[in-house]
Amino acid sequence: MKITADIVIVGTGVGGLYCVLNLPSDKQIIMITKSAVDESDSFLAQGGICMLKNDDDYDSYFEDTMRAGHYENNKESVDIMIRSSRDIIDDLISYGVDFHRREDGSLDFTKEGAHSTPRICFHEDETGKEITSHLLKAVQELENVKIIEHCKMIDIIEENGRCAGIIAQHPNGSMTEIDAKFTVLATGGVGGLFENSTNYPHLTADALAIAMKHGVELENIDYIQIHPTTLYSRKRGRRFLISESVRGEGAVLFNSHMERFVDELQPRDVVAAAIFEQMKKDNKPYVWLSMKPIPKEDILSHFPNIYKRCREEGYDVTRECIPVVPAQHYFMGGIKVDRYSKTSMDNLYATGETACNGVHGKNRLASNSLLESLVFAKRAAKHIAQTFDDYDTITPDIDIESCRGCDSDYEKTVKKEIERMKQYHEQHNNDTEC
Ligand SMILES: Cc1cc2nc3c(=O)[nH]c(=O)nc-3n(C[C@H](O)[C@H](O)[C@H](O)COP(=O)(O)OP(=O)(O)OC[C@H]3O[C@@H](n4cnc5c(N)ncnc54)[C@H](O)[C@@H]3O)c2cc1C
Repeated sequence: MKITADIVIVGTGVGGLYCVLNLPSDKQIIMITKSAVDESDSFLAQGGICMLKNDDDYDSYFEDTMRAGHYENNKESVDIMIRSSRDIIDDLISYGVDFHRREDGSLDFTKEGAHSTPRICFHEDETGKEITSHLLKAVQELENVKIIEHCKMIDIIEENGRCAGIIAQHPNGSMTEIDAKFTVLATGGVGGLFENSTNYPHLTADALAIAMKHGVELENIDYIQIHPTTLYSRKRGRRFLISESVRGEGAVLFNSHMERFVDELQPRDVVAAAIFEQMKKDNKPYVWLSMKPIPKEDILSHFPNIYKRCREEGYDVTRECIPVVPAQHYFMGGIKVDRYSKTSMDNLYATGETACNGVHGKNRLASNSLLESLVFAKRAAKHIAQTFDDYDTITPDIDIESCRGCDSDYEKTVKKEIERMKQYHEQHNNDTEC
């Protein structure tokens, strides 16, 4: 089958949805998602979304982001993200997103590790669901947008160095060619490549493999964040995140002798490394997290989802410690994009976690990723709108059947490239230290 659109967006998380909402309404848009429309990491985000709460906080927010990222961040991207944050939050509120407020009606802010001050807007411990469900509803009301679920991109269409759409496959094996003047990859992270991850398992970095195949530039794809605290379980499957904001609100970590062993509010990579070391010393597959320093009423009002899930697993976090273990969580590297989210291939954009504009450097500051995804998805949309008429429409002539099975080695290819980049960085760092 062959269908035609002005723009095709791959992925229905915040990176894809917010891009669509900022595209002109006279463009025909097709969105596809590999799973159900509400099965994206965007729905899982717990802690919140950062905001520049006043001009006085700019330097501190900038420095916190840079310090967490080991100063490998792209400063221009960080500046764009921080300065755009207030408009993004206002826009989300206009879509009906309900952030927690103080008694006087102003926005309330929480704090997470490596933030020098509270600057995170939140909705209980389900901020991602609150944001993404409102954006999804707004997109579903648009007449110019068609969403196709359970439809997997297996390749992009390349014509004379330009991207001219994608090839997608359905669960029954049938394939669809989607011709489009512009393509946006918003395919999320890489958690599906790992045994222990907080991500949905269908996020297997397909877009990275496809980018590699077509010579589209990637950046730092070995920069993968391990979250320090997921609920320890012997069961297989997605790991349940215990948001960093519980530590921001006072929760502490203990070793097997019930002694604290790390400053819980250090950046994620530092805390995760300390936990791994402690697990080795204790010879245990977890350490303990105590939420008891947080008043019970605050646990129930701010973290109802964490409370409920831990109860289901047999723990009452208001009274007892829970076992936690680090797990793969976030992807700082990705498809290299400029400040308009354009990749190295013409007519191909990437937004959200699959893209790398350098905001996060080597390690993401907590609650910067929803914001970064939204800010740069909007910039992609604006750039596509501005340049739309500069390009002719191409009608590709391809044998769609020749694409069948082209994705069979994608996971292996990406894992190998991650390993190669890791070795490259280790070697490079050793050389610099010499
Ligand atoms: C448990 C958890 C908690 C988090 N908490 C926070 C938080 O508090 N604050 C914060 O800022 N960030 C948080 N994050 C990170 C944040 O949620 C993500 O970085 C962000 O939502 C990514 O959005 P996205 O649109 O790029 O990807 P996603 O929301 O993951 O969407 C990816 C989309 O791409 C689709 N897709 C993938 N491959 C294909 C393919 N081949 N073909 C078709 N479709 C495809 C998927 O089906 C999905 O629709 C958290 C993440 C997790 C997992």
